[in-house]
Amino acid sequence: MWHLVLEGINNFALKEAPEPTLQSPTDVIVKVSATTICGSDVHFVLGEIEETPWGFPLGHECVGTIHQLGPDVRGFKLGDRVAVSPGVWCNQCDACRGYKYQTCESFGIFGSGKNLGDLGGAQAEFVRVPCADNTLSLIPDGVSDAQALTVGDMLCTGWTGVERAAVGPGATLLVFGAGPVGLCALHSARLQGVAKVIAVDVISDRLEVAKAMGADHVINASLEDVAEVVLELTDGRGAEAIVDAAGVKSTFNAWAPVAALNARISMVAIPSGPVELPLAQLQMKGITVWTGLADPNRTRRDFLLQSIRDGTLEPSLIFTETISFKNIVTGLQEFIERKPGLIKPLIVF
Ligand code: NAD
Ligand code: ZN
Repeated sequence: MWHLVLEGINNFALKEAPEPTLQSPTDVIVKVSATTICGSDVHFVLGEIEETPWGFPLGHECVGTIHQLGPDVRGFKLGDRVAVSPGVWCNQCDACRGYKYQTCESFGIFGSGKNLGDLGGAQAEFVRVPCADNTLSLIPDGVSDAQALTVGDMLCTGWTGVERAAVGPGATLLVFGAGPVGLCALHSARLQGVAKVIAVDVISDRLEVAKAMGADHVINASLEDVAEVVLELTDGRGAEAIVDAAGVKSTFNAWAPVAALNARISMVAIPSGPVELPLAQLQMKGITVWTGLADPNRTRRDFLLQSIRDGTLEPSLIFTETISFKNIVTGLQEFIERKPGLIKPLIVF
């Protein structure tokens, strides 16, 4: 089979490899029908995430069909259409029972190197999925591959970001960054009781998509004074909840001026290096900052898939183009270089 391999900083290629095989009775082999590229892949490509030996397969977002099935997998059969979570957890150890998935003994993230579970990549023709009963979700009839592909990472990360900002009903949410993660955060906000959504970016066509996905107000940070507009929109209070899906120096400095007293900030973006936070300003406003990864809980993913089927969510607007898997190297280059108009590519086989 063919898969995308990261050989070193900015050095990636399609390589041939043996098809993965079942290694445990709870494994499944998925034949991938669609995959995509995440902002986090770019952090790996640019060498910005903790060091991991090079030469590992990339990609942690895919959907497909069940090609091989371990004897202890209960909830799936051969040929089922499935959405794969970016992260694996066993749902049996103490950590999982306490919802602390990242400390599960089986935890790993697909396509993220030796230090994060040494799993196969989702930018591949086939992928071995451990702990399949938790790592997979069935795709309901009527939900497309593109829609289902958003659920594991983009929608779960966006949803988790909004949830951890702990907005009570009626709150104003401000989202920095209208990339795929920020768009999915603001798209899921109404379902979580948010009254008003403000999106901030520096790229105007992304802000147009933000409007189409549910933002009430958009602010272009390269043209407008963000704090001034936010205070105007909130009668001088500021936003009670903030999701940072941009994670750049200018957004860290923008947090305190736009935040309401006792606001909560979800830092879902992965910064590209050490950051300086204006801590005193955040302290004076009693602000709480949460960081972490998307919650990979299967119940959450199943709920999001149902919400798509019901028409409550339509996340596939984040895909601005469709490319063939054989062109993934060019697709990744264009993604890294931020080709104008490209938000996220749908990669099909
Ligand atoms: P992206 O790069 O497409 O989105 C970032 C957006 O921030 C861009 O649209 C960019 O124009 C915007 N931006 C840049 N400067 C800005 C500024 N000053 N003000 C406002 N916006 C600004 O990336 P993405 O795929 O949406 O991912 C966002 C981040 O989330 C990445 O760091 C990614 O690694 C991370 N991520 C985290 C998790 C998790 O589990 N925590 C999961 C997936 C992705
Ligand atoms: Zn990701």
